[in-house]
Amino acid sequence: MEVRTRFAPSPTGYMHVGNIRSALYTYLIAKKHEGTFILRIEDTDQNRYVEGAVEKIYKDLKSLGFVWQEGPDVGGDYGPYIQSERKALYMEYAKKLIESGHAYYCFCSQERLDDLRNKYAENNMTFMYDGICRGIDDIEAAERIKNGEKCVIRFKMPKTGTTSYDDVIYGKLTFKNSELDDIILIKSDGLPTYNFANVVDDYTMKISHVVRGNEYISSTPKYKLVYDAFGLEMPKIVHLPMVNKPDGSGRKLGKRDGDVTFDSLLEKGYLKEAIINFMALLGWSPGGENEIFSLKELEENFSIDGISKSPAVYDQVKLNWMNGLYIRKEDIEYITELSIPFIVDAGFMTKSEAEENKEWIKKVVGAVRGNVEYLAQIPEHIGIFFGEGVTPENDEAREILVTEDAPVVIKAFKEKLENISEVSEEFVKGVFKEIQTETGIKGKGLYMTVRVVLTGQCHGPEMPEILNILGKDLMIKRLGKVVE
Ligand code: GLU
Repeated sequence: MEVRTRFAPSPTGYMHVGNIRSALYTYLIAKKHEGTFILRIEDTDQNRYVEGAVEKIYKDLKSLGFVWQEGPDVGGDYGPYIQSERKALYMEYAKKLIESGHAYYCFCSQERLDDLRNKYAENNMTFMYDGICRGIDDIEAAERIKNGEKCVIRFKMPKTGTTSYDDVIYGKLTFKNSELDDIILIKSDGLPTYNFANVVDDYTMKISHVVRGNEYISSTPKYKLVYDAFGLEMPKIVHLPMVNKPDGSGRKLGKRDGDVTFDSLLEKGYLKEAIINFMALLGWSPGGENEIFSLKELEENFSIDGISKSPAVYDQVKLNWMNGLYIRKEDIEYITELSIPFIVDAGFMTKSEAEENKEWIKKVVGAVRGNVEYLAQIPEHIGIFFGEGVTPENDEAREILVTEDAPVVIKAFKEKLENISEVSEEFVKGVFKEIQTETGIKGKGLYMTVRVVLTGQCHGPEMPEILNILGKDLMIKRLGKVVE
């Protein structure tokens, strides 16, 4: 069987954690089986239409590296891939169900349905349509439609018995038909509901595996019955486990839980490589010790068997740890590019200054990247490299500057600097040894004095990095402020 999977987002304007994970798993299942990954835009809910949202989906998926072989922008044999452009097809399929007696026109007004809904709510019951329009015959329906009466098309669910399907993750699941609502297939605006469109599309697009969040489990028997009514086999259904909040409440992570959209993660300086790696582990276990996977490695290692039934936990601490690891291990050029906006936003330099001093920023980022978990933290660590003045950060630093050794070390260091044209590797290597030999001062008295006088801090990046980044002129200025 050819594996064909689809990611089917609604254009809401942003991708949240659940979307990214569904997209990733859907993509990986196709990749793993040398199948086809399809992008389908589910835009039948016109009330939720967001300007530019489709382009945003393309951009986010491209940025994540999930390349689709069929989709609205690239075409394919089973298009169009935007649901609003498939309107006629859904109607054609709905009419087939009317003809075969599996569906009916429903003329119930909004008021009647609201009343019904209220009655159910008063009795603490889940709303179910009462099927009053089931009895309307074809002639009456045709007449009422001709007269311009508004209607929807509903599916006629069986009232007795059970419906089962085999979920790839959860195994055989069985549902009582009496609990299945007569779902709307086509709304009064002529557009399909999600419930119907997903069936028609998954069938007509020859989808082999439907991969989606497990909030769809209770709807799946209804889809199964629609497939049955057409005499079609349902694709394999892969329901992904829930993603819970990290607070141990066992509650589902919601859209409002802070950094849970792709954009907000990027805005804080999470790397897409880390996001992908972290998302991959939200419900999939690689089955070994290693937890660090690039997308390429996931493509090779991912397997449906490793997807878990039990809820995954969105563990921010783990994400931070993983992101820090990627910040340290990825190419420094790349990390620098990503860090520049944070440095500019924090007011350390303008965009054009940053462009002109990229090599220097690279050194700065290289010196501090080991200390951050996300790039928005970079500015907190780079203050020491900017400005001529230095303020000792605390009493410990102030005390170092008033020791007997301090003026001696500072004077010697300044002389050394005045004798070079610029800071070289050789200088960095030899300067402390030379001062030690000349002054007899070593260890903390030497290194800490230079560190504090240059940065105001008792801790921070390695000395060679500090010397290299500050450069001769700035160091002389900073020393001058203390000595003279
Ligand atoms: N449009 C649905 C959503 O965004 C997709 C569900 C599915 O994959 O079938 O949740």
